[in-house]
Amino acid sequence: MKKIILLFIPLLLLSACNKKDEKKDEINVTTEDITVKLNEEILNTKGITKVENGTIVTEEENIDTSTIGEQEITITIKDNNDNEKEYTYTVKVIDDEAPVITYKKELSTTVGKKINLLNNVTAKDNSNEKIEVTIEGTYDFNKEGTYKLKYVAKDSSGNETKEDFTLTVKKASTPTTTFRSTGTDSSLNGTKTSKGYTITVKNNITYIDGYLIANKTYSLPNTYGPGLNSNVKSKADEMFAAAKLEGFNLYIASGFRSYDTQKNLYNNYVKRDGKTAADTYSARPGASEHQSGLAFDVCDRNVSACINSNFDSTAQAKWLSENAYKYGFILRYPKGKTNETGYKYESWHFRYVGTELATKLYNGGNWITMEDYFGITSEYDY
Ligand SMILES: [Zn+2]
Repeated sequence: MKKIILLFIPLLLLSACNKKDEKKDEINVTTEDITVKLNEEILNTKGITKVENGTIVTEEENIDTSTIGEQEITITIKDNNDNEKEYTYTVKVIDDEAPVITYKKELSTTVGKKINLLNNVTAKDNSNEKIEVTIEGTYDFNKEGTYKLKYVAKDSSGNETKEDFTLTVKKASTPTTTFRSTGTDSSLNGTKTSKGYTITVKNNITYIDGYLIANKTYSLPNTYGPGLNSNVKSKADEMFAAAKLEGFNLYIASGFRSYDTQKNLYNNYVKRDGKTAADTYSARPGASEHQSGLAFDVCDRNVSACINSNFDSTAQAKWLSENAYKYGFILRYPKGKTNETGYKYESWHFRYVGTELATKLYNGGNWITMEDYFGITSEYDY
């Protein structure tokens, strides 16, 4: 009997222990709803805050947080007896970042000239949604002034960005003469003149049959300023040395002239004589051959009046007209050819083209103009 009791006691103890273990093994899981930012990296197990006596079965991975809103996350957890159960919690994806606006801080126009203030203005948001930019403030394209305005961009979550900018509406200036001409039109490149010579336009400079052209139709860009060509200078010296043997004391009175120099010169003539008159004897900036560095006005130290019509009848002018071609120079604006060259007769203005073309244009003393020879015009198109 004693033996039986002794056997029972451990059994009772064992069963009591078993009961206690079962209670301790009970699964205990707590979850928590969470709020995250757009595109934030977060694991799907993040909302499981406590797991007792259980193991997470669902594989751990990142939640898709690329869109704003709520989503339910389900995680499977098994208890110590391998019973699986699903637990859910909510993930709320929010956007608290405002859009970024790319813009220009200062815009300007002239009175009466509307511009699109939203041109080149963009807004980007982390939500990747299309953000519309609006303008806050008032302005008037027809009224001079500086307007302080704002670009406004708002995303669907209500995050807003405002950026200040100014619109300056300037007084419309009196129309300034544009010195554009077909010479700067690169679409002419490769075309032919009326006499079949090839037009080449390179860096806005027009060449016909390889010869640089600077006249009223084909102007030079304001950036072109090579100075007097050194070969032209030495050929001129050669010519002057020959002239000296005849007793002439020739020199270059005006060689290279920059675009800006010509601009001042021309504007002064316009002020003095008016535009129509000035255009007959002075080139508009860009249209002067002096800017090419290939032309010059010649003068004689012994002749008091150079570079005006008083030079025409001098022996010096006659000698130049008959000999210049031998040194590669042409009398660029011959007598009676105004309708071709666009300029009055200039007995003092010579242009270097090389002896080959110069001899052709000299034409035995009956000068042919470059315009006539190449079949081109010399007319302003405005
Ligand atoms: Zn000249």
